[in-house]
Amino acid sequence: MHHDQATAETKSSYLLSLVWWPLLYFGALVGAEFAFASNAPIMWFNAVYAALLGAIFLLERATPHRAEWLEHDGELLNDIGHTLLTKGVAQLAVAATSIVPMAVATVTRTDDHVSQLWPTQWPLIAQVVLALVIAEFGLYWSHRIAHENLFFWRFHALHHSVIRLWVVNTGRFHVVDSLIKMVLSQVPLYLLDAPLQVFLWVGAVTAITGLLTHCNVETRTALFDPVFATPKLHRWHHSKTLKEGNSNYCENVMIWDHVFGTYLNPDKASPDRLGISGRVAPDFVGQILQPFSRKGARQILGQRVESPEESGKSADEKANAPAVGRISEA
Ligand SMILES: [Zn+2]
Ligand SMILES: [Zn+2]
Repeated sequence: MHHDQATAETKSSYLLSLVWWPLLYFGALVGAEFAFASNAPIMWFNAVYAALLGAIFLLERATPHRAEWLEHDGELLNDIGHTLLTKGVAQLAVAATSIVPMAVATVTRTDDHVSQLWPTQWPLIAQVVLALVIAEFGLYWSHRIAHENLFFWRFHALHHSVIRLWVVNTGRFHVVDSLIKMVLSQVPLYLLDAPLQVFLWVGAVTAITGLLTHCNVETRTALFDPVFATPKLHRWHHSKTLKEGNSNYCENVMIWDHVFGTYLNPDKASPDRLGISGRVAPDFVGQILQPFSRKGARQILGQRVESPEESGKSADEKANAPAVGRISEA
């Protein structure tokens, strides 16, 4: 009897791990469709977003991918702080970047100006797919450079410094990191004259995918992994092991990881250890300021910060000190 119950439970959690991701992903997209067709698109989209957040929060407790990731890491308030700051700055930047080109267009464009570049005659869904692929090119390279270049890594490391993944990590980005990413992904669409509706959709898909990729819910998405940025692929991106973490840079569709050879999808569900070999500051303001000081940057990179006694050591001893942690770990 007990055995049967256990089997039934295993079966139902197996089924849940197969269906919850496509249900929530495509369900949220359908919700966005209704929101954008309504009289209050932003308000209703926020409602869809909140519902998705709530559903993931409950699933994380009902069927976690890793039980130990449910334990508090003391970063909750920092995560929320970074989310609010980057969202606020992003809104201002979007306002500024949409006002400036509109002003320019009003002056320079005559009434008969019709964009030759953007295929406005295509069905909206095809335009959105095209825009996602174009935006992804900027997302891919800004993200890859943030991992491969030490100057940019000091900003991106904050996102990777967590040792567990859950839905609240979604917005944990240094504000500079977010701005670079936003500029590189959106400017090509502006230059190509993509319509506002297309921008809204790219924003919606990115927001929805982002919540899902960081969640700690048991997931089987083998069918979707080659195309979409699924939680499984993103867990490997958060691996502490360099050659695993320097992979799966795409944020929505995996196309550029396939093209540039950085797609990683092992048989295992997730890496053993997450995080970075450097150290980020424990407090919110410290985390914002850390990349801007020499000492802070060295801490982030996992380089030894020289104290006065240490600077007296021989060159040989210094050579044995750990070099850049992120690089030497490979
Ligand atoms: Zn990353
Ligand atoms: Zn992430």
